[in-house]
Amino acid sequence: MKITLGKEGLNKTWQKNFPETTKCCYCDGESRIGFVAHEAIDEDDKAIFPRNFNQFVCNLHENKGEGEFWLHDCVAVAVYFCKECLKPTALYNQA
Ligand SMILES: [Zn+2]
Repeated sequence: MKITLGKEGLNKTWQKNFPETTKCCYCDGESRIGFVAHEAIDEDDKAIFPRNFNQFVCNLHENKGEGEFWLHDCVAVAVYFCKECLKPTALYNQA
């Protein structure tokens, strides 16, 4: 997993780019991007097959296909900080 600071991380995603701002999950204030944590996005960090080591979140535990909500395959997490209360809000997506 890698960390990309600020707006440069907004396109480090497997789906639609993350927005520059989002609504704070605590006070509904405006939250600005802080950083994006991502897997296998960079050119030098492409997916490798076969996956005979812990490359992705899905490799961290056995997939039993039931029960709790969990992320599968690659994940990208954008962390925002609120301009009003300074608390973090996170958005994520996955491959
Ligand atoms: Zn807030």
